[in-house]
Amino acid sequence: MKKYNFNAGPSILPREVIENTAKQILDFNGSGLSLMEISHRAKDFQPVVDESVALFKELLDIPEGYSIIFLGGGASLQFMQIPANFLIKKAAYVNSGVWAKKAIKEAKHFGEVIEIASSADANYTFYPKGFESKVPADVDYLHICTNNTIYGTEIRKELDVNVPLIADMSSDIMSRPIDVSKYKAIYAGAQKNISMAGVTVIIVKDDELGKAPRELPTMMDYRTHVDKGSMFNTPPVVPIYSMMENLRWLKKNGGLEAADKRAHERAEALYTEIDRNKLFKGTVENDSRSLMNICFVMNDEYAELEKPFLEFATERGMVGVKGHRSVGGFRASCYNAMTMEGVNALVQAMKDFEAKY
Ligand code: PMP
Repeated sequence: MKKYNFNAGPSILPREVIENTAKQILDFNGSGLSLMEISHRAKDFQPVVDESVALFKELLDIPEGYSIIFLGGGASLQFMQIPANFLIKKAAYVNSGVWAKKAIKEAKHFGEVIEIASSADANYTFYPKGFESKVPADVDYLHICTNNTIYGTEIRKELDVNVPLIADMSSDIMSRPIDVSKYKAIYAGAQKNISMAGVTVIIVKDDELGKAPRELPTMMDYRTHVDKGSMFNTPPVVPIYSMMENLRWLKKNGGLEAADKRAHERAEALYTEIDRNKLFKGTVENDSRSLMNICFVMNDEYAELEKPFLEFATERGMVGVKGHRSVGGFRASCYNAMTMEGVNALVQAMKDFEAKY
């Protein structure tokens, strides 16, 4: 049976990305060695890093003066590495979910942190609003998590603030064009929209590096990795390769504007059904709805149908639609590689389930 992968991360990747990576794992560029066996300094691997950097620059339209590095450690390491490098005195953070909260916790090791907005009291059912005018002018940066993977809220627009931004874009990176010039740094674990788990992408503004008033251990300092082109130590070779394949796929399929359009089409179809179907309701405020993680629950009077619906959907090939344990219900993650066929299969399952009751 065909499977439709709605996992929240690691998550769906385009079939051709998986197949091309698999081929290279068996025989890298006809060398007789696996991609898993080669040195990261092998002459054939440098072009993979170079092409990945070039594709990021092209697809995201990254201006001069920014570097792109590929590190291990996940987005979670960035919760500390970002303030270690960029927090000089004081930073503002928006508390829009558990990941944002974790970023706040780590930043406090390095300086003053002002939480300028939060939706914690509402179990993060909306993206905090109205904070743009409240950002103190003297902060080093405003940190946002653009898409809250667990709750299904997203801020899918450029903020109008007078300070530089830093963003955790782990779950919506490369799903829409962004104005990189507004950011001091952007970081993302790759395992949702752009690759398998194992590599974190960090885009940093070069002339903001080296300003923090602290001695940084070598591995913590972004300059180490910028200067060595992500080769200071052994980078995650296979995840970088699959990322390059995925960026090629994105380019071939119309770049980020087309990715954005597809994301809107997928989300529109699912939210329309959630709002129409008498059994289900959405969990977040309409104007905060994420295009990436679409969260919904059973309507109160049908609460006992939660498990039966999960079973029903599973029988039809849906994978990963169970909601995060802190929200319950369902979460359909629709990252770049999700097709309308997958979304339509889920919508049809919701319709057919409704017809049964
Ligand atoms: N930020 C966001 C928005 C996430 O969704 C996640 C993981 N789900 C993380 C950070 C943590 O990422 P990692 O597991 O790569 O450390």
